[in-house]
Amino acid sequence: MPRESVRAAGRIFPENYRDQKEREIMTDLSRAENTIEVLKKYHFQFDKKLGQNFLIDPHVLQKIIGAADITKDDCVLEVGPGIGTMTQALSRAAGKVVAVEVDGSLIPILADTLSGCDNVKVIHQDILKTDLNRLVQEENAGKPVKVVANLPYYITTPIIMGLFERHVPAASITVMVQKEVAERMQSGPGSKNYGALSLAVQYYAEPYLAANVPPNCFMPRPNVASAVIRLTLHDRPPVFVQDEALMFALIRAAFGQRRKTLVNALHNAAIFPLDKEQIGDVLASAGLRENVRGETLTLAQFAALANAFSERCR
Ligand code: SAM
Repeated sequence: MPRESVRAAGRIFPENYRDQKEREIMTDLSRAENTIEVLKKYHFQFDKKLGQNFLIDPHVLQKIIGAADITKDDCVLEVGPGIGTMTQALSRAAGKVVAVEVDGSLIPILADTLSGCDNVKVIHQDILKTDLNRLVQEENAGKPVKVVANLPYYITTPIIMGLFERHVPAASITVMVQKEVAERMQSGPGSKNYGALSLAVQYYAEPYLAANVPPNCFMPRPNVASAVIRLTLHDRPPVFVQDEALMFALIRAAFGQRRKTLVNALHNAAIFPLDKEQIGDVLASAGLRENVRGETLTLAQFAALANAFSERCR
């Protein structure tokens, strides 16, 4: 037998076959069989509580990277790298990748799967407890990053709202979310999916649905359908509002009791020391009917209403 060969499973392979195979596994985790090899190697157990559904479809991976429009000039913030499937692809496309992962058992795996990715920094932390403004300052000199992630679905809204409300410098947020959540983000008045999340997302960003993704693209399979959505942040909000916090308080109150008239919902929420008649007068000054329901209002109408309350309560 030639020196550079080994015998296995009745076949002869070059001596470096195992090294080559290992390298192939470690550099393309988007293939299901490679993910399985890595999970076996580390005896990894999925933690359902952490929303761990790893991507195992190379086409979907490319869709996400394409939708995020990553170039070598970009610094990417990845939430929840898992075993590093998307991180590897991001590392090839971006100038720099900062990946925040909460599960300590994934950290040694990431050290292995990302060992060839010099432009990746993994941070072992809970994304919801991370000071992202400081992180962007330290890792990208405060310049806008691109957020890319296959999100842990149990904290989709706090992650996205945290980025918006804390004004973390971000050019875009391209994320895998539950399909139903993606629909809510894009909905307008008249749709049953329209709500506080639709208005918040559309105040801060322009949503674009990049792909629908079925459960068989993940391991383990989630019980819900998924979608990739890109949120391109506005340079300036599309409406003028004097007091953002007040507008969002009105929106929460309106959708907290969406079957009630807006007057009743706002009165019950007790945001202002005003009786129903006084609230009705403010609605009228914003050009709204007395019996209007909050779920029919556009973002511009909520902004006008917030401005009318700011004037009234000055
Ligand atoms: N990016 C990987 C992929 O696409 O295969 C994994 C995505 S998996 C849907 C979500 C990831 O987020 C998991 O790795 C999970 O451990 C991580 N995660 C869950 N909660 C987190 C948190 N609070 N902070 C940071 N990462 C979290």
